[in-house]
Amino acid sequence: MAITEEDIAAVRAATDIVALITEQVALRRAGQRWTGLCPFHVEKTPSFSVNAQEGRYYCFGCHASGDQITWVRETLHLDFTEAVRLLADRSGIELHEDPAASRQRHERQRLLDAMEQAVAWYQERLLSDAQARPARDYLRSRGIDGHWARQFRLGWAPDDWDALARELNLDARTLAGTGLGFVNQRGRRQDAMRARIIFPILDPSGRPIALGGRILPDQVGHDGRPLAKYKNSSETPIYSKRRTLYGLSWAKDEVIRSGEIVVCEGYTDVIAFFQAGVTRAVATCGTALGEEHFTTMRNFARRIVLAYDADQAGQSAAAAVYQWERRHEVDVAVARLPAGQDPAEVARHDPSALVAAIEGAIPFLQFRLDRVTGPAVGGTPEVRARAGEQAVEVLAEHPSALVRDQYAMRVADRLGLDLDVVRQQLRLRASGAPPAPATQRPAPSARVRGAPPRPGEAALRLCVHEPRARSRFHAIFFLPAAQRTAFEELAAQPTVSAAIDALTRRGETEAADLLAAAVVSEPPVAPSDEAIDAVVAQLVRVAATAALRRLERRLRAGEIPPARAMSVIPDVKARLELLETDRGPAAVDSLRAWLVEESAG
Ligand SMILES: [Zn+2]
Repeated sequence: MAITEEDIAAVRAATDIVALITEQVALRRAGQRWTGLCPFHVEKTPSFSVNAQEGRYYCFGCHASGDQITWVRETLHLDFTEAVRLLADRSGIELHEDPAASRQRHERQRLLDAMEQAVAWYQERLLSDAQARPARDYLRSRGIDGHWARQFRLGWAPDDWDALARELNLDARTLAGTGLGFVNQRGRRQDAMRARIIFPILDPSGRPIALGGRILPDQVGHDGRPLAKYKNSSETPIYSKRRTLYGLSWAKDEVIRSGEIVVCEGYTDVIAFFQAGVTRAVATCGTALGEEHFTTMRNFARRIVLAYDADQAGQSAAAAVYQWERRHEVDVAVARLPAGQDPAEVARHDPSALVAAIEGAIPFLQFRLDRVTGPAVGGTPEVRARAGEQAVEVLAEHPSALVRDQYAMRVADRLGLDLDVVRQQLRLRASGAPPAPATQRPAPSARVRGAPPRPGEAALRLCVHEPRARSRFHAIFFLPAAQRTAFEELAAQPTVSAAIDALTRRGETEAADLLAAAVVSEPPVAPSDEAIDAVVAQLVRVAATAALRRLERRLRAGEIPPARAMSVIPDVKARLELLETDRGPAAVDSLRAWLVEESAG
């Protein structure tokens, strides 16, 4: 980590979170806090709240939460360091980076600048060079005219050994660092791309980081041998194949807006989808879809539609796809493209068919099952039985027993097989598979905006907003484990944000969520001493009543001597009654002492 904790704290302190958020979302003042429509989920009534003093936001609808840095990361899709740098620049804070990190950053910027120049130069060749005429003609024949060539920054690499290196005067280090070229065996600089249409590959913020190059049809090498149709940049310090998605910078806005990303096979497919009006399409760059692509995509969308050729999609490594679906909490669907045609052809002749294929995308498992069962529907008993066996094989790969069973019903129904037999086969087949892990997502909370908070939540709110009230509470007052954990962390940390961060780091998501919600909520009462007393009393009543019941249960079960219980129970009951009277505060103190003692014993 190149940025110091002090700098991070300074950046947070210098950034007015309300001003920052209102650059993108309209906020209205509501009492102590600010509210607006949540940018992270679609809604009509505002459930997004901001606490200006604490520098935190929280959404009561989708539970998105964070501080200034999180906001920049989530909305601009930057990593932590980039987000801190952006905020530091915004407030004019000089970061104390270690010299190595700062050198690395400058080198990176130098390579990005060279890539940008190269892409501009290649584009200029395509648009105006006489030699590029065949390339222009070819693109036009594929429906890509000047407008689309400009939109996707397409270029032309001249039929020359070193035109780019020479024209832009790129040295050996820059050629190697960008993958734009290399130094050949005779010690001469040489371009990586020659006589190819250039498809620049951009990072999510729109900076060129690599190139894809396509030959013209029937083109052969100078030695007469066939050439690879596509050639892609090698991996460099600025380009990782496994993570990069072609087209993401152009598709990003629509992907975020729709919550859906369409993955197709190649650069020209992406362009075809854009031409058909599906502007949320991306492609992998000459490599199979892998987990790191999923990591990139899940930052932008929760639904992934594979728009591959039907055979390709069916053969995707199914087990891996299910695993990624779970691990990254995304849904994978498959578009049913017209058979035997690539998307570019469909886009030219029938754009609406392309749109319909995406809209009609079906879950990955259903797609695979349909391929197995479809041809057997209405077939002989033997054909249907064989398809049933194949379907069970496909089903067994899915990690969720609940999902497997629902589709088992569909399979039985579709093939006219006995459901119990399908289930039995599935159990036999799936018993070898490891049990599905429990989902990572915290249980959906019953807290709804506007509903009165439960006593523990009201108390947490008070503790968040009135630090002086914290000493009046005790962890044992909080019965739900998450509330108790949240209170303990709050009491242990200097600020609410520090407590939320610590809980998040430990994976205590439910407890972190409770504090994140509390910090953007109105304090439950005007925090006078009497009001604090009332919240404490309410919580103590609930906790003491629960402890009393536990004691009575243990007495009935013979776990404690009756003599002891008999002396305690009436005493606690009497104090609980006192809570309602003007001797309440004294009763609170004695009940508190009793609860602490009980929890210790
Ligand atoms: Zn939301």
